[in-house]
Formats: sequence, structure tokens, C-alpha cells
Amino acid sequence: MAFKNQYLADLMETVKKRNPNEPEFHQAVTEVLESLEPVIEKHPEYIKMGVLDSIVEPERIIKFRVPWIDDKGNVHVNRGFRIQFNSAIGPYKGGLRFHPSVYEGIIKFLGFEQIFKNSLTGLPIGGGKGGSDFDPKGKSDMEVMRFCQSFMTELAKHIGPDTDVPAGDIGVGAREIGYLFGQYKRLRDEYSGVLTGKGLTYGGSLARTEATGYGLCYYTEEMLNDHDDSFKGKTVVISGSGNVAIFATQKATALGAKVVALSDSNGYIHDPDGIDLDAVKEIKLVKRGRIKEYVENHPNATYTEGCRGIWTIPCDIALPCATQNELDEDGAKALIANGVKAVCEGANMPSTPEAVHAFQSAGVLFGPAKAANAGGVATSALEMSQNSMRYSWTFEEVDAKLHDIMVNIYHNSAKAAKEYGMEGNLVAGANIAGFLKVANAMLAQGVC
Ligand code: NDP
Repeated sequence: MAFKNQYLADLMETVKKRNPNEPEFHQAVTEVLESLEPVIEKHPEYIKMGVLDSIVEPERIIKFRVPWIDDKGNVHVNRGFRIQFNSAIGPYKGGLRFHPSVYEGIIKFLGFEQIFKNSLTGLPIGGGKGGSDFDPKGKSDMEVMRFCQSFMTELAKHIGPDTDVPAGDIGVGAREIGYLFGQYKRLRDEYSGVLTGKGLTYGGSLARTEATGYGLCYYTEEMLNDHDDSFKGKTVVISGSGNVAIFATQKATALGAKVVALSDSNGYIHDPDGIDLDAVKEIKLVKRGRIKEYVENHPNATYTEGCRGIWTIPCDIALPCATQNELDEDGAKALIANGVKAVCEGANMPSTPEAVHAFQSAGVLFGPAKAANAGGVATSALEMSQNSMRYSWTFEEVDAKLHDIMVNIYHNSAKAAKEYGMEGNLVAGANIAGFLKVANAMLAQGVC
């Protein structure tokens, strides 16, 4: 889309020139800048003090090689990244992604989104993201351990509990966080909250594992309640079958919905009886297997090869929880034709701009990732608080805080959208509410 405001049009051109061949980053920046048009008209000081020019430029990009040795003695060299995007409101915070598709543009888009997401949580955390093109799939535990140790050997020089606190993301779960934490401790001789998503025996927070999926459902439920509706009795389709998808399935079911589909990068399962989550956990979390194994013991369920068809399954609520740009315009049209009422994003930027436009034009309630999946990082910030206090809250205490945070995110986004003349547009609302706090902190701290 063309910007009406010339300053924003020029800024977007600069971003494209400085970051060529990074379409995901361009997509993320375009969406935020579009939302900010009414904000900068009201607040020209953000332009004058270079706040927007600065916010699209990472404070620091760290790029390094990660050599490691497989079980057969072969040497492999992967690429590692950490992008420290913005520290105006707190230490850099954001996950690490291990996936073969990782390159600088993916980490940049994720780090940029993280700035606004973290601001929306109301907690003091800046934005960052990292990862590697390493693929943990098919690797032994020892290979993953050696990779993590090598990755942390470099990363440890750049992070710290008051500087930059990484966490998990795609391909980085409890196992990887454990190996990364062990190596950091060994190198720095320091026992601190330098990573979140840690195991419960060494500083992890109760409810962190569940937080992104649960938080997504708390946000969705609040959005539905605000429109005199709820999860109760609804049919739900969820993509992915990783951390976010599994715990979104668990919470949506607890709130009275029936989840009928899940997927992985090979295909999707459809179980009209409702997904048997224990079976999925066994396949994905314990055996690290493929989602198609589900149909072996569930005769009424079907498996379809290929992921995108999942959006043709009729449902009231769709929760994309797999990866970026997994839900395109065709998927959106199929969902709309089948009467979908609400779509909330568990993954980061899972809907293409065309899909978002289709949902908004059709009057579908649409909750963007920055707001809807902020529960993970919010609970990571709660883990940081507990680590600083050398204390642990109960599951119920953390869960209650997570619930309040998600309810606040929904209302703050809805309020910001209304205030800037875009009532009901939760994409714009989340971008504006997230931006204002960071921008005001940047203004207060001067040009730096
Ligand atoms: P996991 O690695 O645990 O799971 C990712 C899941 O998505 C896997 O089931 C994977 O399948 C599947 N997948 C990957 N690509 C596709 C595709 N093209 N189509 C269908 N399924 C696919 O990651 P998470 O659950 O942690 O993360 C999922 C998303 O949520 C990501 O976008 C992440 O950035 C976002 N997120 C995660 C947070 C967290 O706390 N974990 C916090 C906020 C956002 P396969 O096994 O075949 O690879």
C-alpha cells in the first residue's frame, strides 16, 4: 500500500534500500508504519527527534559462525545471529529460533515485532531476537548439546541478565535452553536469569511452558467477551503442533471449545471428535515424531499431506500457531466462506497482509500476533522478576498475572485504535499502543 505521508514513504524506501532481500522485515515494518500515520500527524516531535528513523534500525547486529561436530565426527558450520533491536524500556528480550529458514531478515522482522510486543505487556523489556540456520530435527541429543554449547560460546559475550535475555522460539525448547544455560554458567561463572524458559529445577517459572498458548486464548476470550461471545461451544482450528499450538489447544478446550485440527510442516490432522491432546503430546513432545502418526490410533481422524489446506476445515475460530506467512489470502477466503468469527495469531506474522485485509474487510475479529501471543514473553519477564528476587510464584499466581496482562493488552489496543480513529482495528491499536511507550522513552532519553 502507498503511504499518504511522504516522510513515512521515504522512510520505508530507506528501510528497503538498507535491508535488501529481506521481505519479511519489509512486511513487518510496512505494517507498523501504516498504523503510525495518524500518530505522527498528532506528534510531529517523533519525526523531529528521529524516533522513527531510529526505531527501524537495530541498535546492534551480532552475526557469528557456529562450528560443531556431529556424532560421526564430521564438522559442520552454521550461522548464528543476535539482533539487539531496542533497549529504550528495558534489557533486550526475545527468543532464539533454530530452523534452516533462519537468515538475517527473519531475525530482523522478529526482533522488530518484539519491540512493540514487549512494550504491550506493560513490563520493562526491550526488543531483541536471535537464532541460527541449524536444524535440530533428526539430530541426536548430543549433537544438539554440542551445537548449543558452540552457539553460546560466542553469544555469552553479548548477553547478560541486565543486558539481553534470550528465550526459546521455533526449534528451541526446554532441552536447548538447558544446554545453553549450562554453557553460559560455565563460561561466565555466574548463576543468573540470563535465559528464560529454564527448567523448573534451575530457575524456570511455573506456567512459562504454557504461557504463549494460554495467553493467546485469554486474549481471544477477552476479545470475544467484548463482542458478547466466548469460546464455549465453538469449533476451533489450530495450525502447528509445537509449544504454542499444544497449549492453545489445551486452554481452548478448557474454555469449552472443540479443537478439531492441528498440523506440522508436512501436513494436518482433522479429528471431528476433538483432538486427543495427550496423544499429540506423546507424539510431538515425547517421541519428537510427526503429526500423521495421530491417525494410527484415532480411526475417525484423517491426515492430509501439505499444510495450507487446514484453513478449508470449517470452524468458528482459527488460531494460526505455526510460522510466518502460513495463512494467505486463499486460506483467509476459505475461512471466511465457512463463517469464521475470529482469528487470533499465536505464531509471529502468520497471516499475509492480503489475508489480514480480507479478515478485516469481512468483519472477522482479528487479533494480531504482537498482542495475541505476547503471553510468552510476558511470562518470561515474570521469570526474570522471580530470578531477581530468588523466589518462585505458584502456577496459579503466574497464571493469574498472565491472564491480567492479556486482558490489559486487548483493552489497551482497542482503546488506542479508537483514540486514533480506527475503532475495531486491533492491528493498528497494538502497533500504536506498543509504539507510544517506546517512543516516549526514546524521546526522554535523548538522541542515542
Ligand atoms: P515449535 O518449534 O514448538 O513448533 C512449531 C510448530 O509449527 C511445529 O509443529 C512445526 O512443525 C510447525 N510448522 C512449522 N512450519 C510449518 C508450516 N509451514 N505449516 C504448518 N506447521 C508448521 O515452535 P513454537 O510453538 O514455540 O512457535 C510457533 C510460533 O509461535 C512461531 O511463529 C514463534 O515465533 C511463535 N511464538 C512462540 C513463542 C513461544 O513462547 N514459544 C512466543 C511467541 C511467539 P515441524 O515439527 O514439522 O517443524
